Amino acid sequence: MREPVIAYVGIGANLGDAVATVRGAIERLGSLPQSHVMKASSLYRTAPHDAQGPDFVNAVAQLQTGLEADELLAHLQEIEQEAGRERPYRNAPRTLDLDLLLYAADRIDGAKLTVPHPRMRERAFVLVPLSEIAPQEVTAAQLAAVSGQRIEALPPA
Ligand code: ATP
Ligand code: CA
Ligand code: CA
Repeated sequence: MREPVIAYVGIGANLGDAVATVRGAIERLGSLPQSHVMKASSLYRTAPHDAQGPDFVNAVAQLQTGLEADELLAHLQEIEQEAGRERPYRNAPRTLDLDLLLYAADRIDGAKLTVPHPRMRERAFVLVPLSEIAPQEVTAAQLAAVSGQRIEALPPA
């Protein structure tokens, strides 16, 4: 086991009660073994991007975790399954999507896991909530590059 590290998880939902699903997912992340949610961003309503269906609700959570990256991914997929996720086709609408964005400063290039998440820098729905809780991870130029994508913060619960 390694020392606990900081990891960032991107959360998205666009079917059913997406707000409740995202809030529930943040709670579940906090209940993973050897893991704590240190910070959670606001919830955001975003236009579908690289995806289909209704607007998404997105957020990013900062975890401190003693899990290895591949173990964390397996837990994320289990939480998706609990939320009833099906994968009928790529980029299909989904009840819940959990992506491992960053894991410490590690670079991972495996068959099942690529970290940093390869498409995160193209996506306002990742960069805006990430910059809210971890401004050091996002540059102004990166935010400017996605400023054409529709995203609005939801009021706190
Ligand atoms: P995108 O990855 O573009 O956001 P997606 O989230 O819709 O697309 P999924 O169907 O959820 O894609 O995942 C496809 C596969 O991506 C998963 O089975 C997983 O093994 C792999 N994967 C690779 N890197 C990561 C990562 N950093 N976080 C989550 N899944 C990853
Ligand atoms: Ca995704
Ligand atoms: Ca995913």
